[in-house]
Formats: sequence, C-alpha cells, structure tokens
Amino acid sequence: MTMTRVAVLDADKCKPKRCGTLCHRFCPMVRSRVEAIRFENNKPVIVESLCSGCGICVKKCPFNAISIVNLPDELETECSHRFGANTFKLYRLPTPSSGVVLGLLGKNGIGKTTTLKILSGEIKLNLGNYENPPDWSEIIKFYRGSTLQEYFQKMSESKLRIVHKPQYVDKIPKVVSGKVGELLEKVNDREKLESIIEQLELKKIWNRPLEALSGGELQRVAVAATICREAEVYLFDEPSSYLDVKQRLEVAKAIRSLKSDGKTVVVAEHDLAIIDYLSDQICIFYGEAGVYGIVSHVHGVRTGINIYLQGYIPDENVRFRKEAIIFHEKPPTVSLGIGETLLKWDSLEKTYEGFKLTASPGEIKKGEIIGILGANGIGKTTFVKILAGIEKADDGKEFKELTVSYKPQYISAEYEGTVQELLMSIAKEDFTSSWYKAEILHPLGVSHLLDRNIAELSGGELQKTAIAACLSKKAELYLLDEPSAYLDVEERLNMARTIRRVIEARNATAFVVEHDVVAQDFIADRLMIFTGEPGVRGAANPPTSLRDGMNAFLKEMNVTFRRDPATKRPRVNKEGSKLDKFQKEVGEYYYMRQTGTAEEE
Ligand code: ADP
Ligand code: ADP
Ligand code: SF4
Ligand code: SF4
Repeated sequence: MTMTRVAVLDADKCKPKRCGTLCHRFCPMVRSRVEAIRFENNKPVIVESLCSGCGICVKKCPFNAISIVNLPDELETECSHRFGANTFKLYRLPTPSSGVVLGLLGKNGIGKTTTLKILSGEIKLNLGNYENPPDWSEIIKFYRGSTLQEYFQKMSESKLRIVHKPQYVDKIPKVVSGKVGELLEKVNDREKLESIIEQLELKKIWNRPLEALSGGELQRVAVAATICREAEVYLFDEPSSYLDVKQRLEVAKAIRSLKSDGKTVVVAEHDLAIIDYLSDQICIFYGEAGVYGIVSHVHGVRTGINIYLQGYIPDENVRFRKEAIIFHEKPPTVSLGIGETLLKWDSLEKTYEGFKLTASPGEIKKGEIIGILGANGIGKTTFVKILAGIEKADDGKEFKELTVSYKPQYISAEYEGTVQELLMSIAKEDFTSSWYKAEILHPLGVSHLLDRNIAELSGGELQKTAIAACLSKKAELYLLDEPSAYLDVEERLNMARTIRRVIEARNATAFVVEHDVVAQDFIADRLMIFTGEPGVRGAANPPTSLRDGMNAFLKEMNVTFRRDPATKRPRVNKEGSKLDKFQKEVGEYYYMRQTGTAEEE
C-alpha cells in the first residue's frame, strides 16, 4: 500500500523566534537540498510531496508544533476539506437524511464542528484543494450517488434552508442583542414557540436581555430559537453543555420532535446518555486530533455508540483506539464508615432575598467524593460555601474555616499569560514535581498546552486547564461545578479518574456537580441530591450511597436506565416501555442488571 504524507503545523505552538528553527536545520531532505521545509512569512511550510515522512522535524521541534502522518493513498480521493497548507484534513462526510436524527460522536479536534459548518454552508468545502477550490458542480459530481449530492445541489441553488446552533453559546450575546422574548418571537416561523417556552422553561427569563443570561439559559434560548425556525436542516453543536439533567432530557425531546416533521437533524454531543437518547443513527469520527479526521459510515445508534466505545469499526476494519472504554456494572460501593470525618452538619438554613436553602443533617469523610445532582440555581454552591465557612448560615452558626478550591461552572478566559504561568502560580513548588506531572498534567492532557496563552484556548482546553488549576491548590475541600462541559467522552473519563486520584492522594474531600449522569457515576463515591425550585428554594438531602442517590434523583426525573448487554453502558429507557415500567415498579432506576445478550436498536 502506498502512503500519502499529511503534515500539520500548529500555528499557535510554532515560535520560530525561540526555537532556532530546528525543524529546518535537521530535516534530512533540506540537508540534501530538497526543500521539504521552507520558510514563508517567518513560518515553516512543510511540502508534503517532498517530505519523506521520517519524522525528525516532529522530534526536533521544541514546541511540538509539527505532526506528520502517513495515510493510505486511497483515502486521498476522499478528502472533503482542508483549510490550507499544513492544516487539519477532513476525510468523507456524514450522510444526513430527512426524518432521521444523526449523531456525530468523536473526540475533540477531530472535525465535528468543521463538518457542521460545512453542512450549514458556513464553510464551503474544497475537497482538499485549497489552492484552486472546486466549484459547486464539481462538488456535486464528487458526491453523486449519496444523499450529499442532492444536499449540495440544493445548497448551491440556495434552496436548502439550514439552521445551526453553534457550540459556544457564551459568545451569542456578543453578536446578538435584545431581550429573550423579542428574539424568540422574531424566529417563530413554525408556531412552536408556545410549547417550547413551556418545555425549556423560558417564561422566567422572557424579559431578560441576552447579555444578562447564564450559559445554561443561553443554551436553552439558542436551542429554542433553532427549533422555532422553519428550515429543512437543523444542526446542533453540543446542545447539552451547562444544562442540568432534566433540561438535557427536555432539549433532547425537543430536538427529536423535529424528526416527525421530516426534518434532517444532525447533532454533535459528548454526553453519552443524551446522544444515545437523541439519535437514530451515529457517525463516528476518528483519526488524530488536530491533524486529520475520518468520518465512518452510518450505524444504528446502539451499534454506533458501542463501536465508538470499543475503538474498532468492523465494517472498515479499523482500530482507532488501543483500548476499549469499559463500563462496570459496579454494585455501588458504600464507602461510609471508612475514613476520618471531615465535617458534620445539623439542619441548616440560608436565606437570600428571593431564595431559601434548607439542608438536612449529614456528614462527609476525608478522601471521599460527593457527587451532586440537582438543577442549576438550587443552592449547591451556597451549601458548599457554608460548609467551608465562607458564608454564614441564617442562625449565625459558623463552620471552622476550611481551605477551599473552587472551579465554577462558567470559566473565564480573561487571564493574561500562559497555561504554565497560571498553573505555576497556584501549584508553586509542586509544579516541578514528578507527582504533579504524572497525576495532574498528564492525565488531564494539559502537558502539551503549557506554552499556550489562556485567551487562545478552545472550550475543552480551557476546561482542562481550569480543572488542573483547581486541583493544583492544596485544599481540604474541593468544589468542581460541571467539570465535563466541552470535554469529549475520553476526556470525561480521564477527568473523573484524575479527580479521584488527587482527592485520595491529598486526603481531601470533593463535591462534584456533574449533569452527565454517566460521568457522575465514574466520579462519585456517594451522592447528594438537591431538590426544589431553581432560584426560589432548594433542599439539600443528606449524602447517600450511589444506588439510593441515583434512585431518588431519577425518580424525580421520571427516567430509568438499562444496561447495554455488550458494553454495560447505561442507556435511557423509553418512557412507558416494558423495562421502564418494571424498573419503576421495583424501584431500580439505574443499577439494573441486564440479563439478555441481545437488544433491539
Ligand atoms: P471538533 O468539533 O471535533 O472538536 P473541529 O472541527 O472544531 O473539531 O476542529 C478540527 C481541527 O480543525 C482542529 O485542529 C482545529 O484547530 C482545525 N481548524 C478549525 N478551523 C480551522 C481554520 N479556520 N483554519 C485552520 N484550522 C482549523
Ligand atoms: P447552584 O450552585 O445550585 O447553581 P447557587 O447556590 O449558586 O446555585 O445559587 C442559588 C440561588 O441563590 C440563586 O438563585 C442565586 O441567584 C442565589 N444567590 C446565590 N448567592 C447569592 C448572594 N450572595 N446573594 C443573593 N442571592 C444569591
Ligand atoms: Fe521552530 Fe517547531 Fe516552528 Fe519549526 S515547527 S519553526 S522547530 S517552533
Ligand atoms: Fe523533513 Fe522528515 Fe520532517 Fe519530512 S518528516 S519535513 S523529511 S524532517
């Protein structure tokens, strides 16, 4: 098999003024006068047709700015897009069809957002030919025989109406202004507004200006605005970030409702339970993050997700991950009784204007992680602040002051400096220790971000940096609010593992608010469930075992999970299905052993 070279230069990392241009100096081709690397505008350009693929420049570059891969020639004929010389390369595209919800699953940096932008028309695909981009007729011819032929035909004639919910909802107020109600009324083409307002709880924020909304509120407004518009194609990039479990399920239902109107729907999403619940079909993206991405054929939702977890695509005979991601049907361990008590509390109350929190008595141990499940704005942060002695309860009783490290739900990128500067300022002498590298930087995938400026990080990179920063501080009590936002499935599991190991090593205690139920299951030793009415009143129930906590929480949500027989991953049951009814009857909402071996799609 002959191979084609793909060379990618990460422009953010490449610093020709600080490296002595080692890539160029050591390239064996350059040394024998073949210009495989040349400099243009002070940046190296790697000429793929001249490069031998030896990989010396990759090793020599002190900033890890270069990636070189060899891909089979056949693949070259399937390139769908490349941004320019030495940039990310996308191969193939998913094939959306009407009346079907197609889920896109894959790690960060693998081309999902690029694909959605191509399908929305925001990026005009160039089939890899960025120098002489093909015109529409060539593109249409290229995809003949697939559903994309008609798709791009219509797009080229401006006959395809497409709406797209972007990934970063936090940026919406920078480009759109006005009040929620005004905005939504403007896009109410399909007369769906009434029901969406109800379903996504938008009444309360109807008169608020967009710039005053939280991330979760913006997310719901953006989803609502997308669904309300009349179009043939609906694209959603990560619709669950910042939403609590109930809102995720409602958003999923609202998106699915488009299917019955024969709409074409494509969704990129990392919450496994949600993408499973949302989609009819799955396309897997694999390759090397930031270098190249390949889109798999379409699979049914169950097989598609299982293939992704297993890391092997049978019909293409491709292994894209060494190890499978494995779920344990763990009978939840009851950790209560081991470890020293960190603190105990009696009932407590805290009143703010318009909001009241009540907490039942409970206690927490050193070394344990309390997973918190509950709506946004229900008093979770307030509760932890009281325990930590930062806020006083109504009766004035104070807790002894604990050192706290806190990662908020919304992370600001307004830090002038690099990831390394930020982490060094917090971790101090720990920063150079091998423990710090092995237990925090490496497993979180932050090691290769150290030189980057905080302001330039992507959502997922910023999240990983914020988690590292939170864990870098030596504290007795850690609070991490939605650490999974913008992380992909693998990063979520690594994040869970890292938090567990650091908390154990520090003999500290952590509260982790996490709305991805599957990720929460990996993180928590015990659970605390918050109930009530967001922004009005909240009740903190005492910490319980995982099983009791999940049962109490999911009973409130009116949702049951079964286990996939092949991978043991939790799957949301269809409301009213035989299993759903049975599990509700016996009161096992989550840890349900699956007996059969096969399951229908
Ligand atoms: P995902 O959505 O799967 O996280 P993306 O589609 O956002 O992945 O990005 C895939 C790759 O394409 C990334 O390495 C990103 O840096 C790169 N990329 C995105 N936009 C551009 C652009 N305009 N120019 C060059 N590279 C880009
Ligand atoms: P969660 O962590 O569950 O999202 P919070 O504990 O942050 O919720 O907030 C619960 C409620 O208390 C919200 O309605 C919030 O606006 C209100 N609140 C929080 N802190 C204060 C404060 N210092 N003053 C007044 N109201 C507050
Ligand atoms: Fe220097 Fe690396 Fe950029 Fe080459 S790729 S110029 S070695 S920083
Ligand atoms: Fe030169 Fe080898 Fe790098 Fe190609 S891979 S540019 S031949 S050093």
